[in-house]
Amino acid sequence: MADVTLDTLRKEFDRGTIVAVEDLDLEIEDGEFVTVVGPSGCGKTTTLRMVAGLEEPTSGRVYFDDEDVTELHAKNRPVAMVFQNYALYPHKTVMENMAFGLKMSTDLSQAERRERVAEMAEMMGIADLLDDKPDELSGGQKQRVALGRAIVREPEVFLFDEPLSNLDAKLRTEMRAEIQKLQKEFDVTAMYVTHDQEEAMTMGDRLAILNEGRLQQVGKPTEVYQNPVNEFVAGFIGSPSMNFIDVAVESGDRSVTLVNEAVGLEFDLSAEYVTDHAIESDSYTLGIRPENIGIIENPAGDETITAAVEVVEPIGSDNYVHLDVNDDFLARSDPSIKPEAGDEVGVTFGETDIHLFHPETGEDVFLTEEEVAAATI
Ligand code: ATP
Repeated sequence: MADVTLDTLRKEFDRGTIVAVEDLDLEIEDGEFVTVVGPSGCGKTTTLRMVAGLEEPTSGRVYFDDEDVTELHAKNRPVAMVFQNYALYPHKTVMENMAFGLKMSTDLSQAERRERVAEMAEMMGIADLLDDKPDELSGGQKQRVALGRAIVREPEVFLFDEPLSNLDAKLRTEMRAEIQKLQKEFDVTAMYVTHDQEEAMTMGDRLAILNEGRLQQVGKPTEVYQNPVNEFVAGFIGSPSMNFIDVAVESGDRSVTLVNEAVGLEFDLSAEYVTDHAIESDSYTLGIRPENIGIIENPAGDETITAAVEVVEPIGSDNYVHLDVNDDFLARSDPSIKPEAGDEVGVTFGETDIHLFHPETGEDVFLTEEEVAAATI
């Protein structure tokens, strides 16, 4: 098994007019599962392809342990890749598909290859499919075969490129658990690309979040969720997304208030908060997660904001209450809170739950050094 290190890895296309991956530094420990997540076009697949050896970096290096593999041909790298479209040979049986990689990468005899495939198929519960051709299989079965084909080669590094995107929601959940189980069982270093932040949160030991080719943050799922280093990560990680309100800072003799007249917000910060946080800018973007918002059904007028309810979406465990504060402002509340559309309600939140992002850089300027360290390891 291997550590994987990406050292200032960069990929440009079209003579430098497209920078798909910009000077990416990332270290994945031996046996670790790192999920690379970000919106479409952020450079996830290009990064993975450079690790696989399918794409040549414009600059930067890729190391497996201490070995520089940047110039090593894909077929000589100890990696196995699993794709969204399964990439199975349609005319070969499951047995032949799974054995084919072994034929290419080992000196095993045909009998030994067949034995190893049969063992793996047994372990993965697909032994009864060995004589079938891919078009006789369901999507889930095809992906199990593709996984089995990858594992049977005993790679040092597993690379997954959106492998579950073609499956329905229930099967996706099952396969997520199965992939994690297999990865831990075989103790293989894994890099898993997805655009789905929920999938990333549930699967990775750590997440690497990319946007426009640039690494935004690397950290454990809960820490990235609690302490996003910037507005992009705050908005991307978490479903439903964090709410944002632009605020101006009004300082009195002894008080600091965050104000947005358009939404009727006047939020007094406590003396303690002001002492702990150096409020240097005259404006910020305030972020608050939907679950940290309280709804008062009969407002008394002293709430943080009063707002009209647009829609209430019951999801069983919670109600999503959409409010006309600004676009997509949403509170996630207890199902017992069920105002009607059009009702005026009170909206409250506490200062320990707010995030303040710098209006120009988007960075959360108030994370402490310890919080940043915890969220970026
Ligand atoms: P998606 O989730 O949509 O697959 P992604 O995050 O995997 O997106 P990449 O496929 O890595 O993103 O692409 C990153 C950027 O590089 C995009 O702007 C894409 O258009 C561009 N790109 C990728 N491959 C090439 C190529 N062969 N030639 C030119 N541009 C490319």
